[in-house]
Amino acid sequence: MIRAVCLSLAILAAGLSAATAETKAKDLFGSKKSGSRQAPEAIGTYAKGCGAGLVQLPETGPTWQAMRLSRNRNWGHPETVSFIKRLSAKATQQGWKGLYIGDISQPRGGPMITGHQSHQIGLDMDIWMNKPKSLRLSRGQRENLSAISVRAKSQKTVNDYWTPAHAAIIEAAARDPAVDRIFVTPPVKAYFCQKSKRRDWDWIRKIRPLYGHHYHFHVRLKCPKGSRNCQTQRPTVKELSKGRDGCDETLNWWLTDYLNPPKVAPKKKKAKPTPRKRGARDYTMADLPRQCAGVLKSR
Ligand SMILES: [Zn+2]
Repeated sequence: MIRAVCLSLAILAAGLSAATAETKAKDLFGSKKSGSRQAPEAIGTYAKGCGAGLVQLPETGPTWQAMRLSRNRNWGHPETVSFIKRLSAKATQQGWKGLYIGDISQPRGGPMITGHQSHQIGLDMDIWMNKPKSLRLSRGQRENLSAISVRAKSQKTVNDYWTPAHAAIIEAAARDPAVDRIFVTPPVKAYFCQKSKRRDWDWIRKIRPLYGHHYHFHVRLKCPKGSRNCQTQRPTVKELSKGRDGCDETLNWWLTDYLNPPKVAPKKKKAKPTPRKRGARDYTMADLPRQCAGVLKSR
């Protein structure tokens, strides 16, 4: 009898751990309400990892407000929070009250139930293009206010909402030594390329064109000191632009073929359907660096 009980307990335990093993990492990380009490560390890669000891960006500061508080994604590595403080202070030099901050990471990073593939290790952040009218928005206003696009309908140029102040703020971000790269809508990159002087290539190359990113720009920090298990993105910006500013065929492609794909003659044979690529939302704990289990378990 006792043996039978033990056996069924063992089966139950095995079943439970199998269930945890199969639980999607996004559900495990998505349920955490606060950061782990660990030394701060970005673990893994921007799109496959987690964050130990992440801290919350205060919801309102002298020069910023975090938006969409219901998402609880205003958590980042302490370096990220410092960066937001210094960049938003610089925004006041452009006559802005400060910055509206969109998603950073979940309290312990990791994959998210909705939205981004990246933003997993506390080093990515979205900064709205809106020039803040007020830094005293209520929680409700921060849920409902819309982000504003800086992209023209043609998708080839910036629109009338774009100002030199936007450019100065993004330039300040790109010149910050903590920044690895910044994702912007291709017309914003084109704007910088038109103004680019030879000596500016070292920061202009950090500004990378990407689909979306017209309601916000996305800043990605380098792996901070002390994050031994943090892996920088490959290829690096240096490898991508080979010592140049990135005002090249890639940018041109975003403004031409990407918008109007050239017509290709239909293939004779039907291509085999390619299996759907597993994305961040499919990851289980086995896909993430092993330290992430500790981050999840920690108090
Ligand atoms: Zn982003």
